[in-house]
Amino acid sequence: MSDKPTTYTCQSCGHIYSGKYCNNCGERTFDEHSKSISHLGEEAFHFLTHFEGSFFRTLKAVFTAPGKLSTDYCNGIRKKYFKPIPFFLLIVVLYLLFPRFTGLNMPLRVYVDKTYDYHVYALPTARQKLAKYNGDEKKLTEAYDNKSAKIAKPMLFIMIPMTGLVLFGMFFKRRRFYFDHLIYATEFSAMFIAVNFLLLPLLVSILAWIIPGAKSLFSDETPTWLITNLLLAVYAAIAFRRFYQIPWWVCTLTALLFIVAYVHLLEYFYKTVLYYCVMLFI
Ligand SMILES: [Zn+2]
Repeated sequence: MSDKPTTYTCQSCGHIYSGKYCNNCGERTFDEHSKSISHLGEEAFHFLTHFEGSFFRTLKAVFTAPGKLSTDYCNGIRKKYFKPIPFFLLIVVLYLLFPRFTGLNMPLRVYVDKTYDYHVYALPTARQKLAKYNGDEKKLTEAYDNKSAKIAKPMLFIMIPMTGLVLFGMFFKRRRFYFDHLIYATEFSAMFIAVNFLLLPLLVSILAWIIPGAKSLFSDETPTWLITNLLLAVYAAIAFRRFYQIPWWVCTLTALLFIVAYVHLLEYFYKTVLYYCVMLFI
């Protein structure tokens, strides 16, 4: 038998309880050991191993079991995973660490190029902004491209609520809460960024490095882009099956629709919002 008291008074909220944690506010039981140096070491070790453990467990779930993270999270199994939003943010941070992979960050010259649709809204705003730069197009372009490089990646966050709305519309009969759709939107967006903007450029770089001349194979981006999005549609179908529990044929159909919607959201919603935001800040 231990001679330690079995009940404690919480240092944070004054609640009387027994066990390792206060069952009112969650504060850890405070004793002499809490002030030892070894405890600090234990805490750091615990944080790192826990962080690493749950991060890799989450990563594994996202890549090998589409929709499992969201399903578990929405069913209350949360402790063993990284929370979906911090997980998404970590993927964006990883993406930020590779500035070579520009991804969705588009230079001003593409926006105002009359061969693309963007110029319809981009040109009038650019012309207005030009006055601030005394008509110096080079300076405006420089300012735009610099600012855009900084905010394009963090702004991917706006894709989550929009994707959540799309899913809410598509599956409103399957899950009642917008929250649930939001969680799956987060999981999918993390996967989309990881595949399109981290793994794919990495694969292309490695191939170009191993096989001389392989780079020319990827000069036309369309086939790679099509294959990737088709694979992501398969991924989404499996996830829909698990998360929304719908028949396979419905999953396949909705997954294709969903990918088309997602890509269009990026192209028309995200890029437009990004453009106006950058223009606002320069
Ligand atoms: Zn307490």
